[in-house]
Amino acid sequence: MNSPYNGRFKITQNYKGDAHRGIDLVGIDSKEIHATVTGTVEIARWENVNNPKQGFGQYVMIREDNGNRCFIYAHLSKILTSSGKHVRNGEVIGIEGDTGYSFGSHCHYEVRYGNVSGYSMNINEISGIPNDEGNIYDDGYRETSSKKTIDEIAKEIINDTNNQKWGTTDTNPTRQQRLESAGYNYQQVQDRVNELLGIKKTTNTIKKLYLPAYANSWRVYPLDKAPYIGNECGFLRPSKFGGLTYDIIRYINDYVVVIKTRDFGTVQIYVAPDTGAVIK
Ligand SMILES: [Zn+2]
Repeated sequence: MNSPYNGRFKITQNYKGDAHRGIDLVGIDSKEIHATVTGTVEIARWENVNNPKQGFGQYVMIREDNGNRCFIYAHLSKILTSSGKHVRNGEVIGIEGDTGYSFGSHCHYEVRYGNVSGYSMNINEISGIPNDEGNIYDDGYRETSSKKTIDEIAKEIINDTNNQKWGTTDTNPTRQQRLESAGYNYQQVQDRVNELLGIKKTTNTIKKLYLPAYANSWRVYPLDKAPYIGNECGFLRPSKFGGLTYDIIRYINDYVVVIKTRDFGTVQIYVAPDTGAVIK
């Protein structure tokens, strides 16, 4: 079964072809509405911003990748995505609500072929949700196969050595944007990443930072400022010394560490893998 919910939901109105072109569902464990398909958000807005009681109210429509089916989630109290965005099956896109032509909080879930109004497809066949008005079902689907735990995602980030999948604060999109668009809480995940890297540090012997001899200069930053260009308090000169080696005192995050230098005292240094820095 592939419903827009995590956990239990109740079917409040069956799919009835032209008499009701989708199925109405009410979340029990959670009011979060999840994408049920991977595709591009084509609509994420009010049906009629001047009349909040009209039609679908606030709704989202996703067009599937490599196909022509358009998945609609209507009557939302809140939209948590935007038009043009690419979303994955399982991502949170909104919160169930009572906007538009609706009498009580629910999600009208409908699939159209090519977004042709009236050309709605059989939602029971597509979703696996039975036409069983009044009854409660449990969609455990996402918990087990799509959404990872904070711990799993943190480990994935740590092992993602070139930050290709999850990015950094400097990539476009940033790690925060990537995590949020995949339905994760950035702060929770990042805290866990830092925690795991910290544990590594205290249980292993002290790690060393090697700055390669081919690097002419390397910025270092004071502890009380963000480690961004312009905030540096000095430059190390690895090439002058045939490379430089430091003990890592602690991790600020997975690519900024604290070291003690002869000339600038205790400082932060940016050591992402693409800089050429080596940590062992
Ligand atoms: Zn409906």
